[in-house]
Amino acid sequence: MKLPKLKPLAKRQEVEVGDKERWKPTWNCFCCQDTGKVRTHLVSLVIPEYNPNRDRFPICQNCHLGESWIHLEGNYDLRLTPDICQELDRFAREGWKKTRRDWHENQKSQTQFEQEFQQLTQSKNLRKRDRSPEEEMFVTQHSQNVRENLELEIKPKSDEEKQLKEVEI
Ligand SMILES: [Zn+2]
Repeated sequence: MKLPKLKPLAKRQEVEVGDKERWKPTWNCFCCQDTGKVRTHLVSLVIPEYNPNRDRFPICQNCHLGESWIHLEGNYDLRLTPDICQELDRFAREGWKKTRRDWHENQKSQTQFEQEFQQLTQSKNLRKRDRSPEEEMFVTQHSQNVRENLELEIKPKSDEEKQLKEVEI
């Protein structure tokens, strides 16, 4: 058969909830993001020299999902005790709260920006009509930048993804 050409499907790391547009992660455990492996940036808080490409990956003991990795003996690290993982979970939750706060701040400044922009064009009495295509593009671009910056912050680091893939192989 002729192989089909499919569009890539983007991973979904967070969902937009209701019209309040709150960003919320879909995982329950913030220590491992439901992968069973402690997230690399969290591991680094306990093992500062941790290198995911070289070192055994710490198994999450904040949830039960780490169990799915114990067949890979010699590849995992059990030294991150439940107490440590619990603390990492708490730490990561705080980080998420902050990200969401920042996002709301961004939204606020975005609205403010649009209002000021509108006032500017109207106060000069240049026109009473809607934005021109150029203006629309300018505003859209600004909005995209804000969003992209935020997405960069909340996406998991790519080395974590790589690490995950390697182990799966
Ligand atoms: Zn976990």
